[in-house]
Amino acid sequence: MQSPSLVAGDAAIAAIGRRSAAVHRRDFLAILSGGGFAAHAFATGVAAPANGARIWTVAGPIAPEGLGTTLVHEHVMVDFIGAAAASRDRYDAGEVFEVALPYLRRIGELGCRTLVECTPAYIGRDPALLKRLSTASGIQIVTNTGYYGAAGGKFVPAHAAAESAEQLARRWSTEFEQGIEATGIRPGFIKIGVNKGPLSDVDAKLVRAAALTHRATGLTIASHTGDGAAAIEQLEILDSAGVSAEAFIWVHAQNETSGEVHVRAAEHGAWLEFEGFGSSSIKTRAAQVAALAKRGLLNHVLVSLDAGWYRVGEPGGGKFAPYDTFFTAVLPALRDAGLLPEQIRLLTDENPRRALTVSARLRPPARGG
Ligand SMILES: [Zn+2]
Repeated sequence: MQSPSLVAGDAAIAAIGRRSAAVHRRDFLAILSGGGFAAHAFATGVAAPANGARIWTVAGPIAPEGLGTTLVHEHVMVDFIGAAAASRDRYDAGEVFEVALPYLRRIGELGCRTLVECTPAYIGRDPALLKRLSTASGIQIVTNTGYYGAAGGKFVPAHAAAESAEQLARRWSTEFEQGIEATGIRPGFIKIGVNKGPLSDVDAKLVRAAALTHRATGLTIASHTGDGAAAIEQLEILDSAGVSAEAFIWVHAQNETSGEVHVRAAEHGAWLEFEGFGSSSIKTRAAQVAALAKRGLLNHVLVSLDAGWYRVGEPGGGKFAPYDTFFTAVLPALRDAGLLPEQIRLLTDENPRRALTVSARLRPPARGG
C-alpha cells in the first residue's frame, strides 16, 4: 500500500499542473529547447541573494558562502521496504528525531555546518523531519528530488515505468518550483541511482530525466553509480542532452578500482565522490583521493561517510552509524595520505560549495547526440 501522504503529493502535483497548465507548457517547451534555466531563473518568487547564486537547504536558500564545512553524502533515515509499500505510517518521526539529533549536534561541535541528506523519495526521504532536525541541531540540511533506480528498480515508483523522461523531469522540477509535497521545502539537488553499466532502460531514462531537470532548475545531479562503465555512460547521456559534466556527481566512485577511469571522468569535468571510509577501507579510500590530488584533479573530488541510517522496521532504527568519524578518522587519514591543510579545506568546504551552487552548467550537445 502506498503512503497516503505520497499519494496526496502526487495529487497535489497533478492539481498544480491543471491550475497552471499554460505556465507548465511554457516550461516544458523551455526544457525541450534547452532554454529552461533562463526561462525559469528566479521565477519561483523566492528571494535569492543579491548575486543570484544560492544553495537550497530545507530551511530555504542560502548564499553559497554560508555553506561552510559540509558532509556531502549522509543519511538520516532509510526504509528499504520498496516503493510500493513505502509509507510515513511505517515509522515514528518523533523517534527518528530523538535518535538522529545527538549525532547532528556532535558534528556541529566539530565544526560541521551542513549535511547533505541523500535519501531519495520512496526510500525514506522526509523533508519535514529534516527541517525539524536542522532547526534543533543548528546543522543546515539539504534534501533532494529524483528516483533511485539501482537495486532492480525496487525503489522506483510504478508511475516511472510508464512516464517519459520529460514527464519525470516535470515532476522533479515541480518539486523545486513548488516545494516537496505540501511542505514548501525545496530540494537542493537531484539524486538518482543506477546499477552497473550497461544501463538498463529505466536507469537510462532516470539519467535523461535528471539532465532535463538540471536544464530546467540548475540543480546538480548526484547519481549512485554501480561502476565506472555506468559513470561513463551517464556522462555520455548528459553530453547528448547538452549538460556539462560539472553538473554531475559520480556517487560511490570508490566502487571503480581503476584510477584511470577516475582520471578520465574528472578530466571530463565530473565530480567524483568517495565515501565508505570504514575501518578496513579507510587507507585505500584515502589513497584513491591522494592519487587524484597527485594528478592535479582534487578540485573534482568530494568526500563523505555515507553514514547515519536509522533503519525503518528495526527496533529503535537499528545501529545508527555516527557522522563524527568523518572528523575523527577520515580527515586524519587524508592528512596521513599526504594531503595539505588547504587541500583538506578544498574537500570539506570549497568543493561542496561549488558542487551544490544552483546554476545551469550547459555545453553544446555532443555531435550526433
Ligand atoms: Zn548513500
